[in-house]
Amino acid sequence: MNKDRRRFLKLLTSYFGLLAAKDGVYVRLLGGENLSQDSTADAEAYNPEDHLYAYAIDTRKCIGCGMCVKADRLENKVPPKNFRTWVERYRISEAGDVDIDSPSGGENGFPPRVSGFNVAKAFFVPKLCNHCRHTPCIQVCPVGASFHTPEGVVMVDSGWCIGCGYCVQACPYGSRFINPETHCADKCTLCYHRLVKGLQPACVQACPVGARQFGDLKRAGDPVRQLIARERVMVLQPTLLTKPNCYYLGLDQGVR
Ligand code: SF4
Ligand code: SF4
Repeated sequence: MNKDRRRFLKLLTSYFGLLAAKDGVYVRLLGGENLSQDSTADAEAYNPEDHLYAYAIDTRKCIGCGMCVKADRLENKVPPKNFRTWVERYRISEAGDVDIDSPSGGENGFPPRVSGFNVAKAFFVPKLCNHCRHTPCIQVCPVGASFHTPEGVVMVDSGWCIGCGYCVQACPYGSRFINPETHCADKCTLCYHRLVKGLQPACVQACPVGARQFGDLKRAGDPVRQLIARERVMVLQPTLLTKPNCYYLGLDQGVR
């Protein structure tokens, strides 16, 4: 194990207060044998302290094709009927009534809906864990299995999770679930195992219209960093003060 990995493990273990933790913790966090093979970047040279990740979604671009949901399921072996990311269809009537659906998380696209609903506007909203800075999910975990990495990614250590589901209840965005196969809390990791290899999250790579963008706020000239600085970005449910690291462009006021 090289110096950087030791440093990362030390950071993680000191966060947990588990100074006796073994290398297995690190392997689990990196996704073990699931590391993507299509990268030339050197994961050995990766230093978490050099990065601060952020995610951006342009709702004006999303076409509801569901490629992102499919890619995520494939990349992260997400069990059927569970989602680490999903897409919602919003229909807002002239009277301001809001109708939301997300059949199969939008994984297979959205069939047309014919109803008496007087649609004034309609659009898609991709969602995922917001990797909040103020995290109710981390606060309620009784065993410290949920934590922030130095890069701002919210993770779950399956080696410590007892599957109590408190974090699932605490997340106001519905971003977590109990994995029926591992019996642990599960959620988006921003494809952390890909990031250390210099790759984008699978959902970002799969989006055919660039509605999803991923960036590093510690990198000068980063497109997402510039976008956050220059555009009118919004976050989901800002009144909750969770300080999401997932930013939206063109977000309608009717979105919850
Ligand atoms: S979206 Fe939910 S699971 Fe993700 S960091 Fe925020 S509170 Fe936690
Ligand atoms: S892949 Fe892109 S366009 Fe398709 S549903 Fe996902 S975010 Fe929207």
